[in-house]
Amino acid sequence: MKKSFLFLSISSLVIFASLFLSCQKVYIEKFSDNDSYWAKTKTMSVNPALNTDLKVDVAIIGGGYTGLSSAYHLAKMNPDLKIVVFEAKTLGSGASGRHGGMVLSSLLDEYSDNETFKWTYDLSVNNMKFIDSLSEALNMECNLVLNGYCETIFREDDVKEYKEYVQEANQAGIPLEFWDKQKTKEKLGTDLYYGAMYDPNGGSVHAVKLIKLLKTAAENEGVVIYENSPVVSFSEGEIIKLSVEANERNFKVEANNIVVATNAYTSKLGILKNKIMPVHTQVAVTEPLTQAQLDTLNWESRLPFYDSRIMLFHLVLTPDNRIVVGGGNVDTYWNNGLEYKGNISRVSDMMLDELVIMFPELKGIKFEYVWNGILGTTFDEVATVGVMGDNKNIYYGLAYNGHGVNQSIMFGNVIAHLYGGKYHGWEDSENYGYELSKIPPEPFKFIGSNMFFKYWKWKDRH
Ligand SMILES: Cc1cc2nc3c(=O)[nH]c(=O)nc-3n(C[C@H](O)[C@H](O)[C@H](O)COP(=O)(O)OP(=O)(O)OC[C@H]3O[C@@H](n4cnc5c(N)ncnc54)[C@H](O)[C@@H]3O)c2cc1C
Repeated sequence: MKKSFLFLSISSLVIFASLFLSCQKVYIEKFSDNDSYWAKTKTMSVNPALNTDLKVDVAIIGGGYTGLSSAYHLAKMNPDLKIVVFEAKTLGSGASGRHGGMVLSSLLDEYSDNETFKWTYDLSVNNMKFIDSLSEALNMECNLVLNGYCETIFREDDVKEYKEYVQEANQAGIPLEFWDKQKTKEKLGTDLYYGAMYDPNGGSVHAVKLIKLLKTAAENEGVVIYENSPVVSFSEGEIIKLSVEANERNFKVEANNIVVATNAYTSKLGILKNKIMPVHTQVAVTEPLTQAQLDTLNWESRLPFYDSRIMLFHLVLTPDNRIVVGGGNVDTYWNNGLEYKGNISRVSDMMLDELVIMFPELKGIKFEYVWNGILGTTFDEVATVGVMGDNKNIYYGLAYNGHGVNQSIMFGNVIAHLYGGKYHGWEDSENYGYELSKIPPEPFKFIGSNMFFKYWKWKDRH
């Protein structure tokens, strides 16, 4: 009796352990290669994977903009710290290397007073200036164009609301402009929209060139970056113990502090499972437009724009005259699934149709690249940055809800200031340390989100 009980216990332990290990393996395999236009047009050398146990001051998990910017700012402000970055795949293989190319300011939807509204906006504008100056200082071009961007108005009923928002922003000292239908057509070339809100601060960037800029900046300050080195688990404590899988082995890392910079992937680390939901969305880029196509297009300002639909379309005209377009579709999978299972050619056809609706002159144009990326989304659509854990040594910058190119880089700076006990300014903004709302568990999350997405798609068409 006792023997069979022992046998049963041992075999269940073995089964449990192998299931656990195979789950980890599957998790690691879910990090897909970056097949975006940005990755194809900027190759980067890949750093070696971790090959030894380590003791460090700060371990940064995730090699996107949040992780690399945190690394750079932390090292710049604390030259003696031993700082490492662990990237599961290659740098920028998350959203930072796959996005739509728009650089956006932080405009609050809700705010308590004009001062915080303006303050938050100004901090985000300062961050754009920082990126620009870093690119200049390191003499590394990342196609950063900061002539502004537009939010275009898809429904006539929304015009009044946009006009009021622009007025309120102007009262707070934020230099937004409201453009009517005519001016919007003159500037953007399309007459699909009833008007636009123009923000002179913002623009566009080459996603992977920006990754390379931040990587170089961080390494110049002494940060060591490991690629193909996923953190498979960590345990809290005064000393945080991380397990890193690399070179088909498991390494132990002890860190006094960590930075969680895993955005959409965060729940797979075992934290914030019910607060951040990964949502898959797709982007495509056309072949380069001919001069004749450009002339008929009349996108005179070349300003990037996104529209006011729920599953907003976003467009960027690149320096080599291609149109990057995304939006109109999102997918989410059971248990925060990271593997894209949608039909990308169907989505691509839908985006191409939409592009031709915006610019009928482009009928017959083709996409050269189409790819999927994963957004970190939350219930309240608010990004959050701060420090958590009993020992206050787990820093995080997360949940940009699709507006994170500029903000994630700024949050890296906020994290460095928090670490050093220095004042950044974001502490005074409305969303500092934002407590994210809980997302219901499965099966409610899967069923609920898919129902919402279907409804949104329907609503965007009516
Ligand atoms: C398709 C798409 C279009 C977008 N368009 C725009 C846009 O036009 N403008 C805009 O402002 N924002 C846009 N965004 C959002 C923006 O790209 C993101 O908010 C921003 O890049 C987030 O950066 P991040 O570093 O926090 O996350 P990520 O870039 O996703 O980086 C997280 C990194 O962590 C790594 N990682 C995950 N788990 C582990 C682990 N366990 N161990 C080690 N590494 C790990 C991942 O591989 C990844 O490289 C878009 C996003 C997507 C997906």
